Amino acid sequence: MGEESRILTGGCKCSLVRFECNAEPALIFNCHCEDCQHFSGAPCTTAVIVPEDQLVVNGELAGFKTVGESGGVVHRYFCPTCGTPVIVKPEAFLGMKAIKASSLDDSSWVRPQMDIFLKSKQPWIELASGTEKYNEAPS
Ligand SMILES: [Zn+2]
Ligand SMILES: [Zn+2]
Repeated sequence: MGEESRILTGGCKCSLVRFECNAEPALIFNCHCEDCQHFSGAPCTTAVIVPEDQLVVNGELAGFKTVGESGGVVHRYFCPTCGTPVIVKPEAFLGMKAIKASSLDDSSWVRPQMDIFLKSKQPWIELASGTEKYNEAPS
């Protein structure tokens, strides 16, 4: 963030789905909601929010809809061959999509700015000290 612009590249585990994005992330956060836990198979998911018109996806994603804890509809996309969750589209994020940090080729630079939906956080997770903390989503 804030350095020279980087091209974000990534994809699913079997590489049938690949993406690239030429824009800086608008926001990076950890979501601890139950749907993200379920979908990710992990105690939380790290979302890298980018402008959707800068995100180019090659390959076929399958998807389904969930209704989030705050009532918003979230479209969740994964590779139908290997099952890797790749992209999430919360309808509330106009013009934006969330790349799963776990699907980036290099996620070593990712620094989440927020932790959200802490009301369903797993009790054994230690949060980073520098993030903004929200019980649900920031309004
Ligand atoms: Zn795949
Ligand atoms: Zn979530």
